[in-house]
Amino acid sequence: MEQVMPHHVQWIKEKCLTFQPEQNKLTLANGQQIEYDILVVAAGLQQNFGAVAGLPETMGKNGVASIYSFDYSPSVWANITHLQKGKAIFTNPATAVNCGGAPQKICYLAEAAWRERGVRNNIDIEFCTATPGIFACPEYRVALEKVMQSKNITPSVKTNLVEVDGERKIATFEREGELVTKEFDFLHVTPPMSAPDFIRNSPLANAAGFVDVDKETCQHNKFSNVFSLGDCSSLPTSKTYSAISSQAPVVTYNVQALMAGKEPTSVYDGYTACPVLVGDSKLMLAEFNGYTMEAIPTFKPLDQTKPNVLFYWLKRYIFEHVYWHSMPLGRWYGKYMWFEPPVKHKVAEVPKPSTFKASPPSETAALKASVPISGVGEASQGASTAADSLKPELFGVSTPNLPGDVSLSGNMDVAIIEQLAPRYKGWLYLNPAENKHFHRKAIEAAGCKVEVAPIPNPAGGQPATAEHAEAVLAAMERLPRPLMIQCTSGNRAGAALLLAQAKALGHNRASASLLAEDLDLKFFTKCSECGPIKDWVLDQLPANNEEAQQTPAAKKGAVIEQLFDPQGSSTFSYLIGCSDSQEAVLIDPVLGMESRDLSLAEELGFKVKYVVNTHCHADHITSGGAIKKQLPEVKTMISEASGAAADVKLKDGDTIEFGKYALQAVATPGHTDGCMCFVLRGPDAPKAVFTGDTLLIRGCGRTDFQQGDASRLYDVVHQKIFTLPEDTKIYPGHDYKGRNVSTVAEEKKFNPRLTQNKEGFIKTMQDLKLPYPKMMDEAVPANLVCGV
Ligand SMILES: Cc1cc2nc3c(=O)[nH]c(=O)nc-3n(C[C@H](O)[C@H](O)[C@H](O)COP(=O)(O)OP(=O)(O)OC[C@H]3O[C@@H](n4cnc5c(N)ncnc54)[C@H](O)[C@@H]3O)c2cc1C
Repeated sequence: MEQVMPHHVQWIKEKCLTFQPEQNKLTLANGQQIEYDILVVAAGLQQNFGAVAGLPETMGKNGVASIYSFDYSPSVWANITHLQKGKAIFTNPATAVNCGGAPQKICYLAEAAWRERGVRNNIDIEFCTATPGIFACPEYRVALEKVMQSKNITPSVKTNLVEVDGERKIATFEREGELVTKEFDFLHVTPPMSAPDFIRNSPLANAAGFVDVDKETCQHNKFSNVFSLGDCSSLPTSKTYSAISSQAPVVTYNVQALMAGKEPTSVYDGYTACPVLVGDSKLMLAEFNGYTMEAIPTFKPLDQTKPNVLFYWLKRYIFEHVYWHSMPLGRWYGKYMWFEPPVKHKVAEVPKPSTFKASPPSETAALKASVPISGVGEASQGASTAADSLKPELFGVSTPNLPGDVSLSGNMDVAIIEQLAPRYKGWLYLNPAENKHFHRKAIEAAGCKVEVAPIPNPAGGQPATAEHAEAVLAAMERLPRPLMIQCTSGNRAGAALLLAQAKALGHNRASASLLAEDLDLKFFTKCSECGPIKDWVLDQLPANNEEAQQTPAAKKGAVIEQLFDPQGSSTFSYLIGCSDSQEAVLIDPVLGMESRDLSLAEELGFKVKYVVNTHCHADHITSGGAIKKQLPEVKTMISEASGAAADVKLKDGDTIEFGKYALQAVATPGHTDGCMCFVLRGPDAPKAVFTGDTLLIRGCGRTDFQQGDASRLYDVVHQKIFTLPEDTKIYPGHDYKGRNVSTVAEEKKFNPRLTQNKEGFIKTMQDLKLPYPKMMDEAVPANLVCGV
């Protein structure tokens, strides 16, 4: 790589861990944050060998191998050369894979090698693909079916590998809802693939996990200064280098256009190619449009559906040179070879209001900007601004950095609304529809779905009620995102946003108030007349955990009950149950509170199956032992690394099943050696992680005793918690300020300790100078023997 890296490029040899596109930043695995003006993401695909049961354990052994693994590809050739007879199976999964033809290429090459060695007649070859056909483009599919027939290879479509028993040499496939087992002597596996986790879990991803870009311009659909190409992008073409060779010039032109303040209009047309080696020094050069699936052969009048020696030589000798000398330098343009392709432009359309966003409107700084939520007068001052430089925040629009993509505004001039509205899909108006500042027609003309749910203006003296709250929440639920909430000054819009966020996440009053401060919501932090509207929001929320607990009849699916020890340790315990099976788990119960915890379980009809401790606590004694005395069938659990006694010692990745749900144990050493967090899994399970003392709301566990290690804590939080989906709820082990719940997005944005770089974090932890925990000498020895 070093040889081809241009001298003016700064090469940072570190993994990217997370993206913060709202702030034009990304975070590396070493904690360093990099700011950017323009970001291009090209991180390829992730191979998920673990998605096939039993596969990781047998890779490289028992005749199982894959060219898709750096470690195990050498054993592919070893298996091919040693096989004398028996059954050889080649698989292809249902997911997108790097080069859709490669799973077949290895099959043809193996067939040719066996023929050459004179053992072909002793080997039965089957190509099992989860897809409905053996190739995506119909013209080449038909041709490849003929190739398979001529080589006596059996194609089995809609046949998806789900399990491998390496020792017994049995592969299990799922075919149209049924499980089919096949014995094998050699199994070549193409694993299921996805975008890498750090992309899948980021705000850049679409629902399928790929970087969400426009299929023509490769520009991100939400963050206009982000581009993506290649295998990790959402471009709906095949994942090949050939496709990238046509995408790269488009991204280059569009990035240059954006930097020059112009609209990116260069277009990728879907071109892709797949050189399918079929053995016997022949190759089928499948060139096609990945968007329309039409064959687009370059070398007419040659019939490219026929494998040909000429293409084989092209691949073997010319492409090899291209691969090492032209591709890495960006000097190979696919079908245009070394000649820069003509630029295709998008057919002219109504220009977007904004192009290059050095400071995107969603940046929280916008919320804190000195420009006040404006009225008509201020807004119209900006009306002469060219559409290209329109920045919503200049017109009083703020977009707090929260999942949900909601902006807030006050009255705006119709000229501004006409330019702003195309950015939104939904628009909620909080004054009566007949208000003269409501420009419904202009908003609807821009394609927005509009709803009106009036909340009385606090200045008018009429109080807002629970019915108003219900109507606003229902409208917010119905309206698509991005969503604009508009009132007269932006205050009630901010209140509606806080209410929706607090209700969705289960914040109590204290938690919601602190969130409003973190977000610097103006109605909460700056507006002296907003008392009534503030009270209106808080009145809709539970005062504390007891108030949040619902009646047993309301419980469905995965039930999470948060219990608090108000005396002494300020510990949160959690009762998590499955309403179908009535099995439940208790996390971190406190000695002395067991009758409350077990009564609640009984009231909800739950049978406690496990007591799970996130670590060996120093501030309270677990009630695990006491509960076992009452209910001997209950099993206690703690990590093996903690050194404490329990019925079950957990390891990283273990799952704790209760009914149709499970807690996945994630080792997170740092506060103590044996700390674990637990991620809730299961059908329809809410996204939630129980973080114990590893991550607290806007804080974390101390690292100055019990094998504490600030550096490890920083790494595990960044690598294992901050990489979870941003809307994952964080349920901590303690809180000392009245907060009850947070999210990954909130902590990534607002945790004052963990948003620092690693050096800063370690220093903060060293400087804490906390007192020796009161209960330490009593609690730790007791917890080492499970609280008894
Ligand atoms: C066996 C096989 C045969 C193939 N045959 C062909 C063929 O004949 N013709 C063809 O056109 N294509 C072929 N392909 C496909 C082609 O190799 C890929 O489409 C192409 O390499 C994808 O390029 P990319 O830049 O998107 O991703 P990659 O080439 O996978 O590069 C991604 C880069 O991102 C880096 N990265 C990943 N995660 C991070 C992170 N967190 N932080 C920082 N960096 C990160 C990776 O280390 C890597 O360097 C084949 C692929 C395979 C596996």
